[in-house]
Amino acid sequence: MKSSRFIFVTGTDTDVGKTVFAADLTRTLIQLGARVVALKPICSGGRDDARKLRSAAGNALSLDDVNPWHFRAALSPDLAARREKKCVRLAALVAHAEKMARRYELVVVEGAGGLLSPLGEGFDSRDLIVALRARPIIVCPNRLGAVNQVRLVLEALPVTYAKQARVVLVNPPHADAPSRSNRLLLAKFFPADRIFEMPWLKQKRTLDLKARSKSRRRTK
Ligand SMILES: [Mg+2]
Repeated sequence: MKSSRFIFVTGTDTDVGKTVFAADLTRTLIQLGARVVALKPICSGGRDDARKLRSAAGNALSLDDVNPWHFRAALSPDLAARREKKCVRLAALVAHAEKMARRYELVVVEGAGGLLSPLGEGFDSRDLIVALRARPIIVCPNRLGAVNQVRLVLEALPVTYAKQARVVLVNPPHADAPSRSNRLLLAKFFPADRIFEMPWLKQKRTLDLKARSKSRRRTK
């Protein structure tokens, strides 16, 4: 497969940490000197994800460029769009993403929901990955059942894309037996060097803030 300017962040489910990961990846790549932006092309039920991605890329793009399609209802984007008598077409989405990619080395794209959640008029994240020839990153909570969920997503990807995929296991606030063993178990089915673990960042940030306010109090 030709190398692509797109990294596509998908997940085994909705609300599994795609935005946290995509924002962190974007920030890290920029710190390493790459010219990167992140897109959340379709939002339903609020544009918070798009705002986070925009900020992670140093507000280089307008919110409407990060997120051209947004719908009020907190439903699958396809249904939310229909409620407003609108629809999103794959070709329009691809055209927008490619326009952004002409100005940057790399574009991180966050899907909505999971790989096969309906995104727009007759397409889902899998169709978008193929249309953009994007490298998929599968985000999955590191809990009991993760190995099955990751394997299902890998099976659903076309083989050339599954071969390029990376897996990110999002660790729980406190490690347990499944979260300690999932990586090894998954490595029986998928190359170990393409499986990563992400710490529980929300927890970490809360702890950091607590630590900071404590030290501030101490220095007063
Ligand atoms: Mg998200």
